[in-house]
Amino acid sequence: MNKNKIYYGVIIRSLFTCFLLIMAGLINAQQVVSGIHYYTGNPVEVTIDNGKIIDIKETDQPAGKDPVYISPGFFDNQVNGFAGISFAFGDSDLDSEGVEKATSELWKFGVTTYLPTLTTNSMDVLIRNFSILAKAVDNKKLLGSIPGFHLEGPYINPEDGYRGAHPKRYVKLPDWNEFMKMYEAADGKIMQVTVAPEMEGGLDFITNCSNKGIVVALGHHNAPAATVEAAISRGAKIATHLGNGAANMINRHNNPFWSQLSDDRYMISIICDSFHLLPEEIRVFYKVKGVNNTIITSDVTSYAALEPGEYKTETGETIELTKEGMLRYPAQNVLYGSASPITKGVGHVMKVTGCSLAEAVQMASTNPSKLYGLDDRGELLPGRRADLILFTLDDYKVNIKKTFVNGVLVYQAK
Ligand SMILES: [Zn+2]
Repeated sequence: MNKNKIYYGVIIRSLFTCFLLIMAGLINAQQVVSGIHYYTGNPVEVTIDNGKIIDIKETDQPAGKDPVYISPGFFDNQVNGFAGISFAFGDSDLDSEGVEKATSELWKFGVTTYLPTLTTNSMDVLIRNFSILAKAVDNKKLLGSIPGFHLEGPYINPEDGYRGAHPKRYVKLPDWNEFMKMYEAADGKIMQVTVAPEMEGGLDFITNCSNKGIVVALGHHNAPAATVEAAISRGAKIATHLGNGAANMINRHNNPFWSQLSDDRYMISIICDSFHLLPEEIRVFYKVKGVNNTIITSDVTSYAALEPGEYKTETGETIELTKEGMLRYPAQNVLYGSASPITKGVGHVMKVTGCSLAEAVQMASTNPSKLYGLDDRGELLPGRRADLILFTLDDYKVNIKKTFVNGVLVYQAK
C-alpha cells in the first residue's frame, strides 16, 4: 500500500515536472513575427524571445495589396475604465478580475500599456480604488500592461465648463498631505496627476509632485498665462486633453489655450475620437506642437462598448451614449469622456493632419513611453519588450489582427 503510494507520488511529480518544463519551453520559445515595419515601410521579421525583441531583419517578402503592419503596442495614459469596468467609480465591484477583463479587452484594440485613471470622487472612494488597483496590478496575467496610474482631479477648477463632468461636491483645493494618503494607497504608483495650477496652493503642489518624479499635467483649469508659465517652470510637463475640460465660452485673448500652445517646453495630450475636437483644432495643435510634443489619448470610460442610451453615473449624473459613439453630459452640454479606444485616434489623426503612420504611432506609443521614463517599450528595437501589434489600415481605420504583450500572443482576430 505504502509502496504504491510512493510509486504514484513519483509518477505524479515526474509528470508535473515535465509539464513545467514544457510550459517554460512554450513561454521561452523563440517566435518570429512578420509584417511591414510601421516606420520604414519595409517587410521585416521580428524575432522575440523570453518576452523581448531580440532581432529585426528586413526580408524580401512583398507587402501585398493589404499590408499587415507591425508596430509597438499603443500606450494610453488616460483610461477611466473599459467594457463595463470603471476604475473611478465607488459603486462598481472593482477587483482583480475586473482589471483583468478591462486589460484583455484593451489588448483587442492594440493597447498594450495604459494608466488606469481615477477622476474626482470622495477621498474614501479614491483611496479604496487606488489600493484595489495597487494590489491588482501585481497580477502576472496582466503581463506588465499597467505600470502605474493617473489621478485626474479632485484638485481642479470647480467652475462649470472647466470642471467638465467632474462632480462639484468633491472638487477641492490641492492638499499635499491628503494626496500622500492616495499615493501610499496606490503603493507609490501614481505616475501622473492632472491639476488646475491657479487654485490656491496649486503651484507648490506641482513642485512637490515634480520632486517626487510624478508627471504633472495641467487640465480642467482656467489659469492665466503667467500661472501656466510658472507651473511649467516648476515642472508641469503636459496638458491633459487640450481643447477639452474648458468652458464653451472663453475670452479670445485671455484663455488657457494660447499659453499652453506657445510654450515649447510643454507637451499636449489630445483626444482624437472625432467628437472631442474639430479637425481644424487637431491640425492647429499638431502644427504648433509637432510630432515630438503631442500624445494621443482616449479618456475612454467604462461605457465604451455598451449599448446607446441614457446611463446614471455613480455620482448621480445622467449621461448619454449616442448611437454614433459620443458620450455626453447633457446638464452642462459637455462631453463625458470618450467611448472610443486610442486605436480610433491613431487613424483619425492621420486622416485630419495628413501625418504618416510612423508619426501617429510615435504619438500613441513612443512619446508616452518616454514621458513616463519607460524605456523598455514604445519602440520596435532589439532589447525592448515584445509588446507588438499587427494591423491593417482600411480608410484610416486601424484593424488589429494580433497583439503580443511581453512576447505572449494575447489576441488574434478571427
Ligand atoms: Zn478630463
